[in-house]
Amino acid sequence: MINRLCIVGVGLIGGSLARDLRRLGLCRQVVGCSRSSEHLQRARELGIIDSYDVNPAKAVEGADMVVLAVPLGAMARVLEAMGPGLDDQAVLTDVGSAKCSVLEAVREAFGVIPENFVPAHPIAGTEHSGVEAAVDGLFQGHRVILTPVDATRPEATQRVRAMWQSVGAQVLEMDPAHHDEVLAATSHLPHMLAYTLVDMLGRMEERVEMFRYAAGGFRDFTRIASSDPQMWHDICIANRDALVDALDRFQGDLGVAIDAIRDGDSTTIKELFARAKELRDRYARESDIG
Ligand code: NAP
Repeated sequence: MINRLCIVGVGLIGGSLARDLRRLGLCRQVVGCSRSSEHLQRARELGIIDSYDVNPAKAVEGADMVVLAVPLGAMARVLEAMGPGLDDQAVLTDVGSAKCSVLEAVREAFGVIPENFVPAHPIAGTEHSGVEAAVDGLFQGHRVILTPVDATRPEATQRVRAMWQSVGAQVLEMDPAHHDEVLAATSHLPHMLAYTLVDMLGRMEERVEMFRYAAGGFRDFTRIASSDPQMWHDICIANRDALVDALDRFQGDLGVAIDAIRDGDSTTIKELFARAKELRDRYARESDIG
């Protein structure tokens, strides 16, 4: 049971976590923090938080669990600002989509990685953002990756693990650099492709006609291009090395596919599609997404 939970960044992820913990009676009190008191007031009206403070140091005072759910580019500033109010015994965790950059921000703010800091990343979300986007059950059945480091106290990791499990998530642990490589390939790269495709089509002269005739496949493939540009800017910059590696690799494979199409090389094209279909079908079966 969490006594006083402080959510810094009451948006899609922070707000959804607070909603679940409150709804399930797993915390006594929720304090919200962000830059805008208007957003925080709305979070209170929606029953997501009990009280709020725009000053991070004040907001975290007395909290036994602090969840940092701001965009990656804001982490360092917010960590520094909350430092003076943070209780030594409080468990501090985050939800950032890249982990090495968050560890760097923590080291920058505190000089060391505090033993009660547990880096975490819920692999769940939508293309919507802000407090109005927060929903119940967002993490149910989804994975949450914890990337504790040598300095991390096992008891702190255990508390964060228990928090995510209590909202229905499946928790696993990974090395931070490995996390960033895996997520660059499976999440950050697809977002880059969706954004770039929509942008490219949008700059074509026949744009209006093209979007009018776009079918379901286009809709499915490009849904994530509706995600928040600031958040994805921050993710690209924070995880740039791993993302550029993944993009380079993709560019190489795309080059092979372009050559095969130009040459009318049916064997290569069919083999590529068959391999990809088999993998996608297996993934869909195993993850129940159909
Ligand atoms: P979001 O809905 O935009 O929420 C971000 C929150 O942070 C807002 O409440 C915003 O409120 C606050 N904020 C922004 N800058 C701030 C600052 N400088 N100081 C204090 N508060 C600030 O974003 P989100 O989708 O929940 O993403 C939050 C984190 O979760 C990011 O690190 C992201 O990488 C990670 N994540 C996102 C997803 C996803 O699918 N969206 C999935 C997993 C992890 P104000 O405007 O009032 O300041």
